[in-house]
Amino acid sequence: MLQLILFGPPGAGKGTQAQALVEHFKFVHLSTGDLLRAEIAAQTALGLEAKRFIDAGELVPDETVIGMIRILLDRIDTVPGVIYDGFPRTVAQAKELDKMLTSCKEGITALLSLEVPHDELVKRLLLRGESSGRTDDTDIATIENRISVYEAKTQPLIDYYTQLGKYHPIAGVGTIQEISQRLISDVDKL
Ligand code: ADP
Repeated sequence: MLQLILFGPPGAGKGTQAQALVEHFKFVHLSTGDLLRAEIAAQTALGLEAKRFIDAGELVPDETVIGMIRILLDRIDTVPGVIYDGFPRTVAQAKELDKMLTSCKEGITALLSLEVPHDELVKRLLLRGESSGRTDDTDIATIENRISVYEAKTQPLIDYYTQLGKYHPIAGVGTIQEISQRLISDVDKL
């Protein structure tokens, strides 16, 4: 079973490209951002706590997201593959994911990393904020903070997976279809 991390800064297009991979390969899509937004919409205690972090452009605590992923992984049966989107976002999360997968004799196959320049990210997020209603996409200071948090806490995962020989950089600029094609041909080779 392929275990793929779709990686990249906020606005890199992870959610959009995850959908394309799901359609093409029938993978299961696990997005911690979507899961957290569902908790917020349902006004659960977890959602209310997470909202404070999300609205400030900060990361939700590791234990919260690890707990959500653990529950879902326990429920997944045999599928061609799993795509993690927005998870792991810290080295601590990556190590926990490794432990969870080792315990069921699996491991991460590859980190598919969408590479997009900073100015393009800000442009895309502001544009998304106009239509999505996502509060974390409308304020430029929050957007810049998310990108800084990505650089400080999430980008180090590139080194972590490079050392494991699993880092696959993919150009994240161009049309949505062009980028999907790059991802699909990379996954075909795995
Ligand atoms: P984007 O990739 O555009 O930032 P996401 O939907 O992946 O959007 O995440 C939205 C917000 O949810 C993040 O800014 C963060 O606050 C929170 N979040 C999502 N996934 C995680 C995670 N793995 N660890 C901590 N916080 C997370």
